[in-house]
Amino acid sequence: MNWFEWREAPVGRFAVVGDPVSHSLSPAMHNAALRQIGEPGEYRAIRVPLDEFGQAMDWLTELGYEGLNVTVPLKGAAMQWCEAYGDDSDVIGAVNTILLADRIGWNTDWEGFRVLLEFAIRKTGRGLPKRLLLLGAGGAARVVLAVCTDIGVGVKVWNRNQKKAHQMVDLFGAEADVIDDPLAIGCEVVVDATSAGLTGDAPPVDWEGFDGVAIDLKYGKSARPFLDSAEAHGVIGFDGRIMLAAQGAASLNLWTGKPVPMDVMLTALDEH
Ligand code: NDP
Repeated sequence: MNWFEWREAPVGRFAVVGDPVSHSLSPAMHNAALRQIGEPGEYRAIRVPLDEFGQAMDWLTELGYEGLNVTVPLKGAAMQWCEAYGDDSDVIGAVNTILLADRIGWNTDWEGFRVLLEFAIRKTGRGLPKRLLLLGAGGAARVVLAVCTDIGVGVKVWNRNQKKAHQMVDLFGAEADVIDDPLAIGCEVVVDATSAGLTGDAPPVDWEGFDGVAIDLKYGKSARPFLDSAEAHGVIGFDGRIMLAAQGAASLNLWTGKPVPMDVMLTALDEH
């Protein structure tokens, strides 16, 4: 077994906590990076049920864990548990990186998405988009909206539950409009920040007349429904591996203070 229940976790330094966590690629990429930067210790995957989050944090702190990554469905609970924030993660409402002893939280998905967007537009020879179509209004979509607001990219937001989209836009006071139908035309980038692909679905994007780039924050099989639908309309697509590696590198840098080479993490991901 490559993961542990929190009560059975061995002594360690770093881990990803989530529920489920067995599928996580984080241990592979972080362990490769730890070896590369000469840091001792292991990075593990630990299952923590949502209603046991506080107890598990105390336990892992006692065991000597220094830094944690937090994944679905625990990012909101992690934000509540932290007592201080190193960035806007409390505004976003989600923490994905914790320094346990200090109870400080960050959201390095922010850096992850910024790097992925830059990569996608550089690879396709484009400049910063004027307008982006954002699909979704969950934690990941909030990160995308926060980045776009910060770098001055206008956003059209579509979400299945439109009320949630309005709440998200109001929260950021962003340069963003909520739209009824996900029409890609008029935007240069479309980002799928939904979890629809986990059940084999893709958001119902109308690609007619679109000549831009498609980005899915997911990777592997769950990114395929959206990217297949984009590619069927001649649109170049990118999945969320770069984002995963970049958020991981940013977390490891926060825990160790050392620069972390993202390419080592990407290679480890490609091997899995
Ligand atoms: P949330 O549960 O917070 O939000 C899920 C979103 O998906 C909601 O907007 C929801 O809409 C929408 N949705 C779910 N099912 C469907 C469907 N069948 N059709 C249309 N919309 C749907 O999840 P997160 O925001 O935390 O994560 C979203 C995805 O992004 C996850 O799959 C996650 O793995 C990925 N991600 C990747 C990262 C990376 O490093 N590459 C980092 C962070 C996230 P509604 O409000 O209507 O329910």
